Amino acid sequence: MEKIATVSIDPRVEDFLKGEPKKLFIGGEFVESLSGRTFNTINPATGERIASVYEADKEDVNRAVEAAERAFKGSWSKVTPSERGRMLWKLADLIEEHAEALAQLETLDNGKPIREARAVDIPLSIDHFRYYAGWATKIAGEVIDNSVGRNMFTYTRREPVGVVGQIIPWNFPLLMATWKLGAALATGNVVILKSAEQTPLSAIYLAKLIQEAGFPEGVVNIITGYGPTAGAAIVQHPRIRKVAFTGSTEVGKLIMQQAAGNLKRVSLELGGKSPNIIFPDADFSKAIPGALMGIFFNQGQVCCAGSRLFVHKKVFDNVLSDMTSYASKLKQGAGMDESTQIGPLVSEEQFSRVSNYLRKGIEEGANPLTGGQPLEGAGYFIPPTIFADVQDHMTIAKEEIFGPVVAAMPFDDEEQIADVIRRANNSEYGLAAGVWTTDVRKAHKVAHALEAGTVWVNCYNALDAAVPFGGYKQSGFGREMGSYALELYTQVKSIWMNLD
Ligand code: NAD
Repeated sequence: MEKIATVSIDPRVEDFLKGEPKKLFIGGEFVESLSGRTFNTINPATGERIASVYEADKEDVNRAVEAAERAFKGSWSKVTPSERGRMLWKLADLIEEHAEALAQLETLDNGKPIREARAVDIPLSIDHFRYYAGWATKIAGEVIDNSVGRNMFTYTRREPVGVVGQIIPWNFPLLMATWKLGAALATGNVVILKSAEQTPLSAIYLAKLIQEAGFPEGVVNIITGYGPTAGAAIVQHPRIRKVAFTGSTEVGKLIMQQAAGNLKRVSLELGGKSPNIIFPDADFSKAIPGALMGIFFNQGQVCCAGSRLFVHKKVFDNVLSDMTSYASKLKQGAGMDESTQIGPLVSEEQFSRVSNYLRKGIEEGANPLTGGQPLEGAGYFIPPTIFADVQDHMTIAKEEIFGPVVAAMPFDDEEQIADVIRRANNSEYGLAAGVWTTDVRKAHKVAHALEAGTVWVNCYNALDAAVPFGGYKQSGFGREMGSYALELYTQVKSIWMNLD
């Protein structure tokens, strides 16, 4: 019998889970929601309850706005950029110190394999805060030399926007929180962050570390609650000046409509249906594992997942047969088992959404080479699924599935490449794309022609705090990460000084 190396629970996680219901973090304190209502968060590997958390509502958002405004005008306005940077760096150190506890909470709450939480979510979160710690002292305006012929001195300042609302999804709970907080805090804003209702735990744990890192009270407020209530209250609040949202395209549209009422700034990181293109001259020792990781990483619950796989017809059968043989051997199980390579989906709702897509794929005539049926029993497990015999017009080739399901399609022009580019771009989404070829000219040509915010050549899912990330078309607008994210969180003031 195979040995199951289940992770022993970190004592800090045990301690953390003891105090229930988990509280909201507002004005530097852990507080109950004003309604006193709570909800449960579920372990997706078992369907069992992990903990209860307080459910924030409109009144809690109001309270968080008051606290944030006080901080913005008061204590936070006295913190120098260098001190801000030091706090962000300290927060990164604290995450590093608590890495195992955070990785375990992520796995318990989201279902992801512990090995991935340790290798990806936590290190990227640490890097992210360190990267933006460096930016805190480098936010600068410019002097505009328009003094000739008139005695003027003109310069610009990059000022923070003020109270910022941030709404995040459940697929990388800690990492999405850090993507949101890093640039906002480096540029001197104050934040109200709402975690996803499916995965509230790591954000609450992070709140404790934020307190310890020395951020003044009210600078970061973290609330747990539902989208249509707490989320909508953030979007509609007239004194929250900006909302940054990561989630589905459908909710992104609602957010734009609601934000129109008070004209707050909006940035949206939304869904995708990313094409991954394998040319016949690819290095298959890299392209095949790359295509597998591109779709099965995080159970396919990745906004930039390479879910439309275009493989040249000359190599289609070989590539698919290798991928199928590898995918069918992936070890699926509870994320807390050290050997697990693919875990459950995050929730029962997501499980039934993806199960419907599997059914629909088969009904419309696609052929699952592996997987294709949801697993029975406890937990929300969908096996890695590779569909062949897919046509571009089928539902599984068009809609974002957000599960471990890839639609593989052959293409047959090699020299002109126009046809595969047309098919790849034939989507309302435009978040990311992949290209696998050893021909450098073709690589650039295709990368330039693809309508996507990120193109990976001979790699997939590469991310770095220094490299901007965001969508084309209905995958959203605004760029997180890199220097580009500073634009989201600053506004430019021009100052004219008459020297006469
Ligand atoms: P979702 O849109 O349902 O929820 C995301 C967040 O929005 C949650 O915190 C939710 O509570 C909140 N929300 C829901 N309704 C709201 C409303 N009416 N007003 C305000 N807030 C509301 O998405 P999801 O199912 O949690 O996440 C999956 C989606 O997120 C996928 O489509 C995926 O592609 C996308 N995603 C995109 C990126 C990116 O960077 N582009 C990253 C991760 C996930």
